[in-house]
Amino acid sequence: MAFAKIVESFFLKEIVKGMALTFRSMFRPKYTLNYPFEKNPLSTRFRGEHALRRYPNGEERCIACKLCEAACPAMAITIEAEEREDGSRRTTRYDIDMTKCIYCGLCQEACPVDAIVEGPNFEYSTQTKEELYYNKEKLLANGDRWEAQIAKNLEENAKYR
Ligand code: SF4
Ligand code: SF4
Repeated sequence: MAFAKIVESFFLKEIVKGMALTFRSMFRPKYTLNYPFEKNPLSTRFRGEHALRRYPNGEERCIACKLCEAACPAMAITIEAEEREDGSRRTTRYDIDMTKCIYCGLCQEACPVDAIVEGPNFEYSTQTKEELYYNKEKLLANGDRWEAQIAKNLEENAKYR
């Protein structure tokens, strides 16, 4: 037994095995992606950065019912609202503290008009905490930017809701 070990050590068996494994791996498909140039496909149910949506005519969807604010378990949403001259209710303030958000999706679930949604964007890291205090302007801009993808995802998932 001891002799066999000595022979194995002499011919560097373990090193040869290791090198053979390395050589074989060179020709296998890669398991990693060259992010950010390559990205994995995202689920249509992915819960990413929040966005406030508009109707095609540009009108805000949100009717200031505050259901999302009530549903949020992290108390991350703050809404203030007032009545417009035409009698409709709209928010004057819609803030989300993204440092509190736990991405549970309950705000989206609660919204009767699909106004607040968690969109497909996951690339929104910031240098400062303050940049993660989102206001209405920022959320509407997100909605405008991602509307095509958000609408497609909602349509695909409509049958499961
Ligand atoms: S995803 Fe959840 S925690 Fe985040 S704002 Fe919506 S309800 Fe609140
Ligand atoms: S985003 Fe939806 S749930 Fe929240 S206040 Fe507006 S309409 Fe109501």
